[in-house]
Amino acid sequence: MGNAVAIDNSLAAIAAKVDKGIRIDAEDARWLWKNASDSDLCSLASTVRNRFHAPNACTYMVMRIVNYTNVCVAQCDYCAFYKLPGASGGYVLSQEEVFAKLDELLALGGDLAAFNGGFNPQLPLDYYCDLFASIRERYGDSIEFYALTIAEFLYLADHAKLSLPEAAARLKAAGVRWITGGGSEILTEDFRARHSKFKYTVAEYFQAQRAIVEAGLKTTATMVIGFDETLDERLEHLERTRNFQDETGGLASFLCWTFKPYFTQIGGIEITTAEYLRHLALSRIYLDNIPRIRTSVLTQNERALDGLRFGADDFDLPIEDEVTQKAGATINLDFERILNYASELGFTPEYRHVAGSPA
Ligand code: SF4
Repeated sequence: MGNAVAIDNSLAAIAAKVDKGIRIDAEDARWLWKNASDSDLCSLASTVRNRFHAPNACTYMVMRIVNYTNVCVAQCDYCAFYKLPGASGGYVLSQEEVFAKLDELLALGGDLAAFNGGFNPQLPLDYYCDLFASIRERYGDSIEFYALTIAEFLYLADHAKLSLPEAAARLKAAGVRWITGGGSEILTEDFRARHSKFKYTVAEYFQAQRAIVEAGLKTTATMVIGFDETLDERLEHLERTRNFQDETGGLASFLCWTFKPYFTQIGGIEITTAEYLRHLALSRIYLDNIPRIRTSVLTQNERALDGLRFGADDFDLPIEDEVTQKAGATINLDFERILNYASELGFTPEYRHVAGSPA
């Protein structure tokens, strides 16, 4: 009885903060994670969501991830996608192969491509600049593209012996407008040391993202959960993201997805959709300065749309991503079924055009 009263009091105190638009801290978030019911989390997340979006509104995009090379020297132990240089099965896509993928995307009604590949030491900066410039020339504003992730951008700059601002300027001159926050997984130094010590440090990650924002390019925040990260590590990631947004205002959205463990070195068991949804709600409540919170159809299929009740307002309908497919993700091209599920939940999905749009 006494414990129930304490829980009610704590929940009421946090709910009062959220109602008034007062920011919750890590201690509040820890309490919510451990004690709040799903329906309490839905309610609090919806309160924050409704400050930015109409209650029943949501948006979606049809997109494809273009994995231009799987050759990589980073050797992250959670990755089932990469091949070391010289190993059989390694590839680099030609411009013609990339164009064929973009043509298919357009034919399926999509207008966003996200480039994501490995740290390939054989690819000079010119490979990227030529590729991106040729896409702009061929497709104009009928397609937008997320050129690279922060992780690849860091590798590229280092490999080309350029400062981060110099590398950002070169890509921008080639027609790049977006470099997303992908490749962030969990942004703590401990996590990086445990799983991807050749990738980057957390300080380097944010230096690169700052250089991108200062170059006038657009970027996003991402997060992947379901490795061996602790609750404190998840909260540290959210705290760093919120602080970066306070300082720069440069994050257009936040997307969280779940680790797929199949065929990876570390292996393990997937976390449940229920855990993902709780984390999504906590992220929406914590990240009170990022209007667009996205839910991951790529890793949760149509159940991702339950995330709309847990604070998300936007989702992709992806047609390909070899990185997550290699580790167990499945792609569902039955878009109608997915969109119908959003309607069944009481939301009205609207296509969000990224191409030719400032959003
Ligand atoms: S996650 Fe990315 S950087 Fe790490 S090994 Fe795989 S392709 Fe390379």
